[in-house]
Amino acid sequence: MNKKPLIIVVSAPSGVGKTTVIQYLMKQRNDLVISTSATTRPPRRGEQNGIDYYFLSKEAFEEKIKNNEFVEYAQVHDDLYGTLYSEIEKHFHSGKDLILELDVQGMRSIKSKFPHVITIFMMPPSLKEMEFRLKNRGTESEEKIQKRLKRALEEMKLRTEFDYTIVNYEVEQSANDLNSIIHAEHLKSHRVEIHLE
Ligand code: 5GP
Repeated sequence: MNKKPLIIVVSAPSGVGKTTVIQYLMKQRNDLVISTSATTRPPRRGEQNGIDYYFLSKEAFEEKIKNNEFVEYAQVHDDLYGTLYSEIEKHFHSGKDLILELDVQGMRSIKSKFPHVITIFMMPPSLKEMEFRLKNRGTESEEKIQKRLKRALEEMKLRTEFDYTIVNYEVEQSANDLNSIIHAEHLKSHRVEIHLE
């Protein structure tokens, strides 16, 4: 039985903890890869170029838009974020499932180009908890935190556009949920190739 690799889009308002959940699952499975996006946002403490993001100047990002190097890109908060074709191609032949962490606009664009993508929305257990996590992270000013919370509310209204919703009460449980979704998607009949002897 051959496994066809999946493209999985995970969206979540910032402060929900989606990256932590994905990293947690990746420690248990070696058949997942994450696409590294490009952004004009400056790196946060500890973030590395080429690993967390490709950190680009606005000019360099716009040059890539002009050269059609992006599968999709969007303005999120005050910065540009985008998925490079080269990033998808890099992983395409690895046979591993590819996870894209995108906002809702990014999910819509990818879905219009690759209709079989699996889309997952991750929610915070409550707005209070999300605000606490954002403040606790200590990487954004109060003004930016308020902007992110406002945007989070808008995004949450759109979650029914996604195939699945995970409420992130606790990292291990959410990673299990994500794992179950991936497992079930691989069992969908149109994805299973069986060669009878
Ligand atoms: P952060 O600045 O917290 O790393 O990310 C902010 C938002 O940008 C998140 O909602 C994240 O999912 C989104 N994002 C990250 N990379 C991309 C991308 O390549 N395309 C799009 N459309 N959104 C992205």
